[in-house]
Amino acid sequence: MYIKRKLNKSLQTFKGLHFGYTSKHKSSHRYTTTIGIGGNIGDVKRRFEHLFVYLKRDKRVELIKTSLILKNPSFGYIDQDDFFNSIIILKTSMQASLFLDYLLRVEKKFGRTRSFKNAPRTLDLDIIFFNNRVINTKKLQVPHKHWFKRDSVIIPLMDIR
Ligand code: AMP
Repeated sequence: MYIKRKLNKSLQTFKGLHFGYTSKHKSSHRYTTTIGIGGNIGDVKRRFEHLFVYLKRDKRVELIKTSLILKNPSFGYIDQDDFFNSIIILKTSMQASLFLDYLLRVEKKFGRTRSFKNAPRTLDLDIIFFNNRVINTKKLQVPHKHWFKRDSVIIPLMDIR
């Protein structure tokens, strides 16, 4: 069950028990990270719900907050279904590079296949921020390169307080 809201002709938001969530627990993990989640194949909201449960059970991370879910048109390769996006704030004790490897494994677990750039995807996980750190390696750029340009990041971020 979600509370739906139309922001304009192309943007719609969904709030529910797990999206628009704040944890009551204190975490002892070291780093705070903001991740962007997205997808546009099949029942994405259902996949987000599964991801929420998966992360909540995983002791390597502590789920702190989630934003609402934003439905928005795809960019790049336009002729594909709308995207669903949300933001999750997590705590972890993994270093950034290991945390990226972890996210890539979670993406795989949720069935992501890579075909071409900006292609439709089942689940995309991006590190937006990692403990206020600036990282510029070949494998990882943090803050995420395009975060401030995208509705898919900014609108869910504004929802998190
Ligand atoms: P894509 O799924 O098209 O967004 O690209 C995934 C690849 O982007 C990963 O294999 C990472 O090596 C690289 N990457 C660079 N910076 C980031 C970031 N902040 N979050 C996630 N992936 C990143």
